[in-house]
Amino acid sequence: MAGMAIMSCFPGMGIPLPYWIFGFCAPLFISTPVCLLLARQAEQKRQLAKTLHAAMEELRRLAEIDQMTGLLNRASFLSRLEKARLATPGLCLLIDVDHFKAINDRAGHAAGDQALKSIAESLRHAVRDEDLCGRLGGEEFAVYLSGVPEALGATMAERIRETVEALVIRAEHGPVIRPTISVGCAHARDSLSAEQMLRRADLAMYAAKAAGRNQVRLAA
Ligand code: GH3
Ligand code: MG
Ligand code: MG
Repeated sequence: MAGMAIMSCFPGMGIPLPYWIFGFCAPLFISTPVCLLLARQAEQKRQLAKTLHAAMEELRRLAEIDQMTGLLNRASFLSRLEKARLATPGLCLLIDVDHFKAINDRAGHAAGDQALKSIAESLRHAVRDEDLCGRLGGEEFAVYLSGVPEALGATMAERIRETVEALVIRAEHGPVIRPTISVGCAHARDSLSAEQMLRRADLAMYAAKAAGRNQVRLAA
């Protein structure tokens, strides 16, 4: 428009009114839809990036979770345990369901699965948000109680054992299941890695098995 105005100042270069109207309207008609299109594309890109971020977060969360119970899986439990034991020394419990093979044999595999889910749920309810709760595999679980001193180990572990002992699982078409657990406890020490702490808890858990099951043992 400025160019047209300058041109029209020269003699013989007068610009007719329709050309002025065209010069005014053409940029308006072209730039407005282009701007709208670009703004829409930018918004779509923003939405897409948001959806992708949410999907990645969900994928990351799923990769850390044991599908059946919703607890942490072995790998993520161990990596979180490594950080947690350094940040806040606490108590590590290794938990194994007693005679689980017999439960499967008696009630069926589906009822066994149901029992594992119920045990996982009761463990989750028995601990605080800042604690860790994982399924290490099969009928084996682990818990990390942040900040719990060694002196309270037996009491806390016993409370968890009692919680599971109180469970009455009524699976569809089958006998009632009353699971019990054997629990080994080990306290975090600077010199022990997460793996080593778990190993000590594992040895204590085997001592609980050997002593008759459905009981708690502290690592020596
Ligand atoms: P113990 O008291 O000595 O621990 O005896 P147990 O029978 O619990 O131990 P064992 O290692 O002999 O058997 C574990 C059983 O757990 C065998 C396996 O079939 C069963 N199991 C492992 N994972 C699952 C699962 O995801 N679902 C079901 N239903 N059973 C499982
Ligand atoms: Mg077992
Ligand atoms: Mg086992």
